[in-house]
Amino acid sequence: MERSKFILDEKDMPVRWYNVLPDLPEPLPPELHPGTKEPTILPPPLFPAAINEQEFSPERYIEIPEEVQAIYRTWRPTVLHRAHRLEKALDTPAKIFYKYEGTSQAGSHKPNSAIAQAYYNKQEGVKRLATETGAGQWGSALALGCALFGLECKVYMVKVSYNQKPYRRIMMETWGAHVVPSPSQDTETGRRILSEDPNSTGSLGIAISEALEDAFSHDDTKYSIGSVANHVLLHQTIIGEETRKQMEMADAYPDIIVGCVGGGSNFAGQFLPWIRDKFSGEKPDMRIICVEPQACPTLTKGLYTWDFGDTAGMAPILKMHTLGHTFIPPPVHAGGLRYHGMAPIICHLYKLGLIEAKAEHQVAVFEAGVKFARTEGIITGPEPCHNLRVAIDEALKCKEAGESKTILIAHSGHGHFDLAAYDDYLSGRLKDYEYPAEKVKEALTHLPEVPSA
Ligand SMILES: *Cc1c(COP(=O)(O)O)cnc(C)c1O
Repeated sequence: MERSKFILDEKDMPVRWYNVLPDLPEPLPPELHPGTKEPTILPPPLFPAAINEQEFSPERYIEIPEEVQAIYRTWRPTVLHRAHRLEKALDTPAKIFYKYEGTSQAGSHKPNSAIAQAYYNKQEGVKRLATETGAGQWGSALALGCALFGLECKVYMVKVSYNQKPYRRIMMETWGAHVVPSPSQDTETGRRILSEDPNSTGSLGIAISEALEDAFSHDDTKYSIGSVANHVLLHQTIIGEETRKQMEMADAYPDIIVGCVGGGSNFAGQFLPWIRDKFSGEKPDMRIICVEPQACPTLTKGLYTWDFGDTAGMAPILKMHTLGHTFIPPPVHAGGLRYHGMAPIICHLYKLGLIEAKAEHQVAVFEAGVKFARTEGIITGPEPCHNLRVAIDEALKCKEAGESKTILIAHSGHGHFDLAAYDDYLSGRLKDYEYPAEKVKEALTHLPEVPSA
């Protein structure tokens, strides 16, 4: 009998995160202070000291604290699946595996970092965390982390999602978070934007600015970020560290790894523990494919330059692919992929030619999601449906070429709160958005001037 699940025992869960920084073939460009625009390893007092240290750590492995491990073990290790039924439906000789992060309490990979961040803040006496959320996935993960460590949690939720997607707001409130629609009356940034445009529906960049201002203006409060930053990618490497053990159980090694990228955290968490084998020259041909929406094609169409992570220009300036920090992407259903920038680590590896990128349209993406649901059973979030599209296309190429490649899918979460998007697809109402070239061109005129770079 061919096995379909590879399950690690709780006691075999990896107890260290993998930090790629010391292994990079070329060092990562520095982060710049938003005020002085000079390189800094001490950004404004946004994060607790332990997190700041991790952001720039030279250590290859970082121990996962016991209390974080204990909470990880409430849902980890997650299962690695072999997609036999999908393979059969595609009639492909390819072997398809997927590592599924949808079994966490919040339904995605995001608690891997939220739990760790809540823990380090608690350790350092912080009472309250402020953050932003788009469709609500990060906000719900942090609300969960704060509930488990007894912290207050304030979430600035992009107004259009707050009004249209109440279920994640209710999850956050159930875990005890205080959620307001952004732009809000609670910050100067929010009040300014509302006075200029009382009907503003908000954006992720605006919500980040509000959360940052909240953290700066309260002594007991720090800021927490759900993606992009080095330390968030670090926390997510538990995914790839587990998968390596499980692929060994399956006696398999990936030729192709695919994942979706919004800010880049879940996919980096899967592929960083593998890319070591490319650095060492052991697996030079392994392909690592980042998938993004055509409507927000940061890697494939963005500029690789210095930009702010937020709209108000309070966050550190990062060297990254960007569509401009004032760019507001079209409302595709994959809310988690609607961000103007990308993790500097991913951009750096892309520039070095070690990873690839592809952009997909949402109708084709949901078609893949429905095929996956009807074969493997899981209803996939709109974000990881992007990688299902590319995985299926690669498996079909294997069929044409008569090649049996091993494809590993980084599956970041379920789509139980995205059924309206499936409804749009199934009823033929879903449409594709063209790449908004003019809006990106305009947004790219607002990049910060960085004299030293
Ligand atoms: C937030 C989210 C993403 C995108 O964020 P990354 O940091 O790129 O991982 C992808 N998938 C799911 C399910 C998400 O919730």
